[in-house]
Amino acid sequence: MAKDYYQTLEVSKTASADEIKKAYRKLAIKYHPDKNPGNKEAEERFKEISQAYEVLSDPEKRRQYDQFGHEAYTQRGGAGGGGAYDYQRAQDIFSQFFGGHGGGFPFEDLFGGGSHRANPNGAVPGDDLRYDLEIDFEDAMYGADKTLKIPRMAECPDCHGSGCESGTGRKTCPRCGGSGSQVLSQGFFSVRQPCPSCQGTGQIIEKPCRKCRGQGRVREEKPLQVHIPPGVDTGTQLRISGKGGAGVRGGRAGDLYVFVHVRPSSVFQREGDDLLCEVPIPFAVAVAGGVVEVPTISGKAKLRIPAGTQSGAILRMKGKGAPSLRGGARGNLHLRMLVESPVGLTGEQLKLLDAFNASLTAKNNPRQNNYRSVAGKFMRGED
Ligand SMILES: [Zn+2]
Ligand SMILES: [Zn+2]
Repeated sequence: MAKDYYQTLEVSKTASADEIKKAYRKLAIKYHPDKNPGNKEAEERFKEISQAYEVLSDPEKRRQYDQFGHEAYTQRGGAGGGGAYDYQRAQDIFSQFFGGHGGGFPFEDLFGGGSHRANPNGAVPGDDLRYDLEIDFEDAMYGADKTLKIPRMAECPDCHGSGCESGTGRKTCPRCGGSGSQVLSQGFFSVRQPCPSCQGTGQIIEKPCRKCRGQGRVREEKPLQVHIPPGVDTGTQLRISGKGGAGVRGGRAGDLYVFVHVRPSSVFQREGDDLLCEVPIPFAVAVAGGVVEVPTISGKAKLRIPAGTQSGAILRMKGKGAPSLRGGARGNLHLRMLVESPVGLTGEQLKLLDAFNASLTAKNNPRQNNYRSVAGKFMRGED
């Protein structure tokens, strides 16, 4: 007594085409005679499974089967006539399903229990893209909006990524029978590969879209607005979600990574969020103290110079550094003092300087005195 085809494949009457395919794949591998040598029962099951699959995988045959029932259908001489289902026919169905391999299947991966395709629809995510963007120091400090022209694969506007001419669809790939793979035999080895006709998707496009030739994507170089936040630095990567290449067959779009390169400033050096700037100050201001104007990234500022400031001294302005990319406090601005020796003095000026020098005492030049006592032993007897 023949079993109901749905029972044979262990699926429900409402099973989708995909579920039927999966059920057949699983059971056909389990009961294949190559895997059960000399087992008559397995061979019978293998034939039953093939017969059931032949009917249920064909929408028209399945409709008739549903309408007229198992007995009626088999008596009407449906696939195989119900009685002795031909072993060769079962083998043919199996071969077609698994990619046109002529009988048997020495390849191991079939027993691994699953499809190699990560996604049954063949969806492939789009590529992530890298774009190297050079910006000015000012843009890194203040932020900027940049228009980038990035050649990328975008969804085809005509077919919206389906690759099909409007009004047409996809059909089962005749080369691989929808399995998406084919088996190549090379000597003792058999290699399963994606079907070249359908690229492993199991389906082919009836009529390819004219604009994208069925690719579903077109190359475009559309301007893309990118916001550069204040505080970026060389090495900063900005990830712009979904702005990489378009996906294939419904796969998600990749991301765009903007690699930032900041042109150096002629005024400020940067270390993390801190900035460093060298400030030449007049000799008299260094000696007597005073106020000088210094550049900051938010405009000029007044800086008080204490009396007796030495060359190389660093004064700090808190919060006048680079903005923090992470939204924290701004860095600091470090100002390195360069005491400028006056040049091109007149005879009159040199006289004044001589008089001034003569008036200095040891306590006016503590560093010189200290230096003499430390380095003095290296300074004897050479002159
Ligand atoms: Zn298209
Ligand atoms: Zn194919």
